[in-house]
Amino acid sequence: MLTIKKIEPLIVSNSAHSEHQVLVRVETSEGLDGWGECCTGCEYGEAALATKDLIERGFSPRIVGEDPLNYRKIWDKLYSATEWYGRRGLAIFAISGIDTALVDIAGKTLGVPACKILGGCFRNEASLYVSLFFDMDNPEKTAKSALQYLEHGYTGAKLGWGYSRSNSFGMNPVRDEEAVEITRDIFGPSNQLMIDVGRYVNWTVSHAIEMTGRLEKYKLSWIEEPLPPDDLEGLARLTATSKIPIAVGENYQTLYEFQDILSRNAGDVMQPDASKAGGISESKRIVDAISSRNKMWVAHNWSTAINVAAALHLVASSPSGSLMEFKEDGNPLVNELTKEKFEIKDGKMVLNMKPGLGIEIDENILEKYRVED
Ligand SMILES: [Mg+2]
Repeated sequence: MLTIKKIEPLIVSNSAHSEHQVLVRVETSEGLDGWGECCTGCEYGEAALATKDLIERGFSPRIVGEDPLNYRKIWDKLYSATEWYGRRGLAIFAISGIDTALVDIAGKTLGVPACKILGGCFRNEASLYVSLFFDMDNPEKTAKSALQYLEHGYTGAKLGWGYSRSNSFGMNPVRDEEAVEITRDIFGPSNQLMIDVGRYVNWTVSHAIEMTGRLEKYKLSWIEEPLPPDDLEGLARLTATSKIPIAVGENYQTLYEFQDILSRNAGDVMQPDASKAGGISESKRIVDAISSRNKMWVAHNWSTAINVAAALHLVASSPSGSLMEFKEDGNPLVNELTKEKFEIKDGKMVLNMKPGLGIEIDENILEKYRVED
């Protein structure tokens, strides 16, 4: 009988792009490896260490010997076992890595791509949008960098945050509007432009209502995280008021939390991240719930190649999703971690239809970026 033989959490880090992520390798009795990711990204490594410990001490003894194809049963077992201290936060990061690895194994065992394990492949490619940090001293430069992607077929570009906490988008309404106006001029009328307010600032509802009114004429496809993720009441008020669609979701975990957002109507565009929200199978439940409410969703993604592959399969497995975030910013954990590079054709990422997530990890690169405990 096919069983889980070993679970190995590995911390990788690249200080310029992706700090302290946990990759999870699940080995089976048949000698197959499955890979998942917990996007714990943190400056000092604390979240990665805690997640690794959760997996080694708490999860491994509970699920070694289980049939990996029972991935939802295993999800449930881990959620229930961690209910006292988990339900959200690091326990869900840890479950995310294992869940995605098990779906990868299920695909490899059955010889089908992960999107088929999730219910079927509705498409074999995902449209991409690029995310770039705003240079608030030179928004023209950022807009011109983004334009290069659009000229290569990307569907849209999202600009936001800033190079630093002290010089970020969202700090000054006049500068904010200027940055958006310059970008729209450079993009022209038809390219999709999104703004990510980012978490360097905390807008109030009244400020967000004023700003969405002020930016309305620049025809943004969405404005992302205009309020802190815990201000659900504010997000609901803003969603009801703003003519610019409101995007939220990178900070939410599990179907339970997304159901709460959906039932409050606290956003128009949802952005689950498989490496954080509970893994690829939980994210599939989330995107199905979003679709059932006739809302838009896009796959949030930035950390390593494993989550890029997970986002791609998630998009492929949903009738209503077609767009995923992809940062081509020279991150070696995205660009070098897999033996075969992701194929991008006319601004779309192409699904290779290989079994599981369709990726093979380059052990040399893994070792290069692996950090000791
Ligand atoms: Mg964001």
